[in-house]
Formats: sequence, C-alpha cells, structure tokens
Amino acid sequence: MGSIQITLPDGSVQEVPQGTTPADIARKISPRLADAALVARVSDPAAGNGASAAGKPDSSISGNAATDTTDGYDGSSAGELIDLRRPLDHNVKLQILTERDPDSLYVFRHSAAHLLAAAVMELYPNVKLGIGPPIDTGFFYEFLREQPFTTEDLEKIEKKMHELAAQDLPNERKLVPKPEAVELYRKSDQIFKCELVEEKATDPMVSFYATGKFIDFCRGPHIPSTRRIQAFKLMSVAGAYWKGREGNPQLQRIYAACFFTQKELDAYLHRLEEAKRRDHRKLGAELDLFSIEDEAGPGLIFWHPKGGLIRTIVEDWLRAELFKRGYDIVYTPHIMRRELWNTSGHTGFYKDNMFGPVEVEKADYQLKPMNCPGHILIYKSKLRSYRDLPVRLAELGTVYRYERSGVLHGLLRVRGFTQDDAHIFCMPSQIESEVEACIDFAFAVMKNFGFEQFEVELSDWDESHPENYAGKPEDWHRATAALAETMTRIKVPFKRIAGEAAFYGPKIDVKLIDAIGRSWQLTTVQFDFNLPARFKLEYVGEDGGRHQPLMVHRALLGSVERFFGILVEHYAGAFPLWLAPVQVQVCPVSEKVIDYAKHVTETLRRHGTRVHLDERNEKLPAKIRDAQLQKIPYMLVVGGKEAEAGTVSVRHRSKGDLGPKPLAEFLASLQTEIETRAIA
Ligand SMILES: [Zn+2]
Ligand SMILES: [Zn+2]
Repeated sequence: MGSIQITLPDGSVQEVPQGTTPADIARKISPRLADAALVARVSDPAAGNGASAAGKPDSSISGNAATDTTDGYDGSSAGELIDLRRPLDHNVKLQILTERDPDSLYVFRHSAAHLLAAAVMELYPNVKLGIGPPIDTGFFYEFLREQPFTTEDLEKIEKKMHELAAQDLPNERKLVPKPEAVELYRKSDQIFKCELVEEKATDPMVSFYATGKFIDFCRGPHIPSTRRIQAFKLMSVAGAYWKGREGNPQLQRIYAACFFTQKELDAYLHRLEEAKRRDHRKLGAELDLFSIEDEAGPGLIFWHPKGGLIRTIVEDWLRAELFKRGYDIVYTPHIMRRELWNTSGHTGFYKDNMFGPVEVEKADYQLKPMNCPGHILIYKSKLRSYRDLPVRLAELGTVYRYERSGVLHGLLRVRGFTQDDAHIFCMPSQIESEVEACIDFAFAVMKNFGFEQFEVELSDWDESHPENYAGKPEDWHRATAALAETMTRIKVPFKRIAGEAAFYGPKIDVKLIDAIGRSWQLTTVQFDFNLPARFKLEYVGEDGGRHQPLMVHRALLGSVERFFGILVEHYAGAFPLWLAPVQVQVCPVSEKVIDYAKHVTETLRRHGTRVHLDERNEKLPAKIRDAQLQKIPYMLVVGGKEAEAGTVSVRHRSKGDLGPKPLAEFLASLQTEIETRAIA
C-alpha cells in the first residue's frame, strides 16, 4: 500500500499510509482531540480555501420538511463530511470536527435520529421506517404504525434510547450490493426503505449504518458511537404523508429536541416555555387587546379598546416622526380598477396573494394588496421638477392579501393589515442621503419601542445575470453601494446575500431580536427599478430634459398588526408605562375612603394619566392580584392614613411595594417616566 498526504487546517502536511483514518490522525494530534472528535471534513487539497468537494446541503434537511431525500448530511461549509473511521485513500485536506463546529451538531442529531429508530424497532418490531433527518432544533424519524404513538409510548421510547446510548454502540458503516440491499428490505417488509434504495442508490454498492441490531440505509456520516447522545427529549408526534405527497400512506413523525449538552437542551425548553407564556394570542385575550371573530372571517383583526389605544399611541408617535423627517402623509383608496394592477404587474407576479376582483358597473376592481400604485398615481398627478425631489409619500395604508387559512397565525399572518408604508421618489444623486435617512428612521423606531439588538441583511443581485433583473447595472451598483456604505458608516454589521434580491431592486432587511432571542423581520428598504418604468414616471431635470426618478419602498414596522403582536410577546404584555393602556390603578382599601380615592383618580386623570379606579367591593389583595394580572404598571393603595396625609402607597407591578408618597410627588415622577418613554 502506498502513502498519502494529509493537509491539516494549520497547513502542515502529514505523510501517512493509505487506509489511515481521521480517527488515527486525531489520536496522533492529541488524545484530547481524539476524545472530542465527532466527524471529519475532507476536501480536495488542490482547491483553494472555501472550495467545495461536495454539494450544498439539501435545504430540505436543515429545514423542516425533509420529504424527498435520504437522510445524510453534507454539511454547510466547503468539503465533505465523513466518518472518523472511514479509511482515507487519496491526498486530502482534513479537518477534525468537534462540538465547536456547527456542522457536527447536524451529524450528532442525525445519529440521534438513528438511535430513536433503533429504540422504536426494539419496542415495536413491526413498525415500518420512513426517513429520519436532523432539523434545526433536533431531529425526527417517521414510522408507519397502526396505533398512534401515545405519550406513554414516547416515555418508553425515550427510556430505551437512553439504555441503548449507555451501551455505547458503535455506528458502523457497511457497503452492500444494491440488489442485496433491496432484497434485505423486501424480506423484512420495509416498503419505504425498499423504495428509497431503489430510487436513491446510484452506485452498485449501497451504504448502510448499523447501530447495535438496528441497520439503516443511509449515506451518513455519523458520530462514532451512541454514548454521547444524552441531551434529547421526544417532543411530539405529527402525521406526515410519505414523501409529503397527499394520497401516500400517512406516517407518524416523532419529533425530538436534541443538543450536545443538557444545559443547551434545558435552555431551549425554557425558551419554548417562555414563548408559550408570551404568546400574543393568549395575552391578547387575557388583556382584552384584540380578537379574531369567526363571524367575520379568519385573518381579520378586531382591535379592542385597549389594543386600539396602544395602536393609536404607536401611530401618533410615528406620524409626528414622519412630519419631522420630511414626509407627506397621504391616503389612498382600498379598492381600485384592476387595470391599474395590470400596469403595475401585480396581476401577474402577485396574483396568488390577491383577493379576487370585484365587478362594479362592468369594470373589475381590485382590493389593494399594496400601496405603491396609489402613491405612484399621486406622484404622477402633476409634472414634477428636480426642485420637488425627493418626494416622500407616507401612508398607514391598509392592504388585503390572500393567505391560505392554514398559514394564518394570530396577528403575525393575517389577511388584512396596515403597513406603515412610504415611497420615496428621488434623483440618483439623492440615493445616499435618502438611504441613510431611512436607516436612521428604522433604528429610531426600534430604539423607541425598546429593541436593542438587530440583524441586517443586504440582498444583492446576481451580477453574472443582469438579464434577469429590471434596471441598469449602474443603478444596481449605486443603490447597493449606498445601502452597504450606510450600514458601514453607522457601524451596523450586515450580511450580504448575492442573488437574493427581487428582480426589481436591492434591499435591506432589518430583523430585530426580542427579549427571548427570537428574530423578527421588520423593516425593509427596497429599491425599485421596475415600477417607475412601467408607470413611465418622470421629472424635469436641471437640464430641462425629462428623466426617470428612482423609487424606494420602505416600511419600518412592516405591518402594524404584526408589530403589535411582536410588542406583546417582547414585553409579555407588560408594556412600558407610556404604552400601557391603563397606567395606574387606584385601589381603595374600603368604602370609607372612596371620596379620597376619587380625588386621587380625578387628579391623575386631569393631568393626562390613564387611570382606573377599582371600586369593586373586593378585599385589597384581590384588587392587587387583578391589577397584577392585567399588568398595570402602578397600583395606588389608599386607606385612612393616606387620606389623612394626602399620600398614596405606591406599588409597581415588577418592583413591588415602593412605600407612601405625596400625591404630587408621585404624579411628577409618573409624568417624567411617560415623557421619557422609559422602557422599564
Ligand atoms: Zn441516516
Ligand atoms: Zn411599495
């Protein structure tokens, strides 16, 4: 046997006998590495850094719907992932992966999926196996079984998995000739596996993995053995058609959460609990903020007085900012001739998202899915000169979009919503300052509402295919440079994604990170090189000639409904004082002090506080408990002592008892907290 050269990440080269495994090399480097190693990545030594020996990972594997795939994992970075025990037979670049490499987590989860299948086969030998890929927070495996898996079944399976894990069973790769593999599955009546081997196996030899008694058709790779798989939890069972195709047999998918460590698993489970506690649909009902009424239809939001009040405050703040920042506020109709939507192109590329046309006097009208054409008509209503530009038209514009009932979700996915929309028409020389102003506005919005963390993505075109895009290359370059330079100047890191832009222009998306670390898409600043051409927009330039203006769509909150949903979840319903629908609850301890309680209430109300007097004939603890449940920021307890001294006993929903204060002093501190829009 000859020798081969192994190039390590530090650039050093090792000459080793052919057939040496990554595990051997890990041992040579250090026992610690050998112990921590999970899988190896190999790539072509001739290729430069970042070159890929294997294809990109199947998106259906890292995503949630692996339906038409075998269940291996190639890894997201350059190179191919292989087992540590796989003999190396040619010169390669080699990297030993430990828990520190994100790709190894997918391999780990995939091995855990095999462990699940092994446990299920041991407990229920007649089950037929589907596929079992890793997913974002764990893995699933699908099974055909007559009876549904119950919670007790899941407990049993989990226990069996721990048992098998503790046996430290190796995951062994075996190559079997394809006909033999088909026969093996035919004999054991594993119909789905049989189908997979016939469809997927392209080589004469088919790879299998054995974990104890369990074997699975799988391209791998896997971690060396089961012992490390400890931090997992079987979460749920869901029905799924084989290969995701309706009409195919329905399998049961067992979903599991899975992490390297118990600590990570616990943190994930805690986050899930928190998300449940903060669910805006639950809080929306408990705090009486909004509802969706069956009689009216799905995806349509009714804002109740308390929700409506918060919305008014949000919108008033926004309108004041718009005027300060040189926008004009406009209103446009909710329904317009369908021809207009032909001109804009929406009846073509946006057709699936629109409600059907409405016929009026033999003409078709269209409920608007977007505000852009309306603003364009206002722009076009008179001849614009370069002196008029930029024109910034803003509207809290309500739009209607057809979303399938299956995807509707509280305030987050709806059929009617209001965008804080604006369209900026400007000259090329104004791009930089307009982009900067948009971004500045976006960050002011987030700061104001108490969001401090963001992620920014710049979607650029695929420069090698200009024919797929509207607009001139110089427009694309200038707009993209303006977006990138602005982000750099204001020191906000961003991710640039080539080829992700819509055909009509580059854009920046800002995602905020909420109180429990979830990210939400919010702001979009989007160039449009298409609509100005379709609507033949123009302005008279300094040279007296006609020119086409540039157009930018931008929404900061996105949808007011969705933003409100995010606010509810971010604050878990405990809105900061300036947004709280009821800011102060006055709680008299008895009937005897009702006059003083009324005096306190009236004084606060006269000074613009949103105050409520709890006049119910309830004991004080009940009054406090109810105010706490309503997440009212301040409770003022008044009894005989307070009435005599002209004070109030202040209680804060999260800080607890703050002691007695003269009424005037409390009022002054309240006003400061409101005016500064403190996020407490
Ligand atoms: Zn597998
Ligand atoms: Zn628009």
